[in-house]
Order: sequence, then C-alpha cells, then structure tokens
Amino acid sequence: MKAKLLEGKVLAEKIKEDLKKEISALNKSITLAAIQVGENPSSEIYLKSQKKNAENLGINYQLLKLDVTTKEEELLALIDKINRDSSINGVIIQMPLPAQISRQKVIEAISGIKDVEGMHPANLGQIILGKPIFIPCTAQAAFELVKSTGVNLYGKEVVIVGHSEIVGKPLNLLFLNEFATVTVCHIGTSQAGHLEEHVRRAEILVVAVGKANLIKGDWIKEDALVIDVGINKVGDKIVGDVEFGPAAERASFITPVPGGVGPLTVTMLMRNLVKAVKLQ
Ligand code: NAD
Repeated sequence: MKAKLLEGKVLAEKIKEDLKKEISALNKSITLAAIQVGENPSSEIYLKSQKKNAENLGINYQLLKLDVTTKEEELLALIDKINRDSSINGVIIQMPLPAQISRQKVIEAISGIKDVEGMHPANLGQIILGKPIFIPCTAQAAFELVKSTGVNLYGKEVVIVGHSEIVGKPLNLLFLNEFATVTVCHIGTSQAGHLEEHVRRAEILVVAVGKANLIKGDWIKEDALVIDVGINKVGDKIVGDVEFGPAAERASFITPVPGGVGPLTVTMLMRNLVKAVKLQ
C-alpha cells in the first residue's frame, strides 16, 4: 500500500490531551446535555461514545430520554429550560427526531452559545463570514485530518462529494476560507454523469455520501489526499464510500473506515463544548 493512513484515533488522543489541560485550567464543573426522543438503534453507538468521551475528560454527561410521542412544544420547552440553566454548558439533539417534531425548529431553539453541534443558523453563518465559532463536528473532524498532513490548501483542487448540512456544505466553506478551489458534487452530479471527471481532478477528495464503493479506486488522482466520511454496513463489515484497496495504491494519504473520521467526530464535540464554557 502506497498511501499513509490518516487515523482519527491518533489525532483524537492528541487533541484530548490538550483538552484535559484546558479543562483543568478552567477549574469548573462542565455539563453536556444530550436529548434523545424515542429509541433509535442507529444512534446508540454515537451516544455511548459521547458518554465515554465526556466522562474520560471529567465532563458530566446528562442523557435526557423523552418518549417517542413527545410533542414539539414539550421539546421546545425543555430546550428553553436548558438554555436558561447556567449549569448546563452544551446541548446535543440526537437525530432523527420523530415526524411530529420539526428538526429545524428544534435546532433554531438552542441558544447559539450552547450549540456544540454547530447546527444553529447563526453558527453556520459565522463560517460563511470566515469567523467560525462552533463548526459541525463531522466537517471539523474531516478538516482536522486534512490539516494534520501539513498540506498547504492555497489554490488546491478540492472535490467534496456529498452536500449535507453536517458535512459537505460547511466543509466547502472551511476550504474556501483557506483559498482552496472547491467543487461540491452530489446526486445531481452523478445523475448528469459528471462525478468521475470531477473526482479525477481532486488533489484533496472528501466523500460523504453513504454508498459503499461509490468512488472507484482508479478515479483517484496520483498522490491525492483522500478523506472517506462514509459509513456503510456490507455484510458484517463496515466500509466507506471509496474503494479502499486500489485507492490506497494511488493516494498519498487515506483515511481507513472504520478508524478514520469517526473517532475524531466526538472529540470535536468535546472541543466545541470546552469553547462554549469559555464563551459563557
Ligand atoms: P446525507 O444523507 O445527508 O447526504 C448524502 C449526500 O450524498 C447528498 O449530498 C446527496 O446528494 C449525495 N449523494 C447521494 N447519492 C449520491 C451519488 N450516487 N453520487 C453522488 N452524490 C450522492 O449524508 P450525511 O448525513 O452527510 O452522511 C453521509 C455519510 O457520512 C453517511 O454514510 C453517514 O453515515 C456518514 N457520516 C459519518 C460520520 C462520522 O463521524 N464518520 C458522521 C456523519 C455522517
């Protein structure tokens, strides 16, 4: 294999050591509230990881479990209470929410200063202005991995596949703010038959779609830096969106799946939380 592996776990441990020092210097109790409405097996792994990461850093983790039949106004009232409770420093909402609750209304109800997932419109707007406060955790994790290679982003051809609000759209702005030339591809790009030609140009490629092996290994430009955000279950294995074996023969750096972006995402949540405490 030619490419160097970009392992999120290694970088996460380094960042957590720095966070521990910052937390001990703050010398106060920090609390993260997580709201879950109804049971959702797909968020269980993420929940466990939040709890473990918080506790390892000495952060109180409060999981508030609400019934699946909870009304929108009940959830909004709870968020209002949390916003006014100075002992709670950050709040996260486990997605998806049941159909009777508007995701957007809930996100907008969270106080911008406690929005550690970086999803509030005011926080997303700060990224457009080049003055980010809280960056969505997955986008931040992918960006940190790119920066950990020491690459100079100025003028680089960056191609992002996937334009979600948690990954592709904020990442587009993060790269743009560093003067990279960014192309964002999505389902429309694929349906128009243009995905391959864009990917072939990429000096830095970030893929966040959720389709196993969507990106063929031989599309990867020689020496490209490849960040695979995708998580797909194939049989009993977890794989990304990029055909790993052949891609790793061409790329200079590549993230493994699992073990790439994933382990860093929760660390970014903790980093946002520590920032929130400082701002409050
Ligand atoms: P999403 O479902 O919100 O968006 C998917 C994106 O892929 C859209 O932009 C869509 O247009 C695009 N797309 C769909 N089919 C396509 C195709 N054939 N060709 C090109 N583009 C196509 O996705 P999301 O929430 O950003 O998640 C994407 C992937 O990242 C999923 O596999 C998810 O599990 C994973 N994920 C990983 C982490 C992590 O911490 N590692 C966090 C969040 C999401």
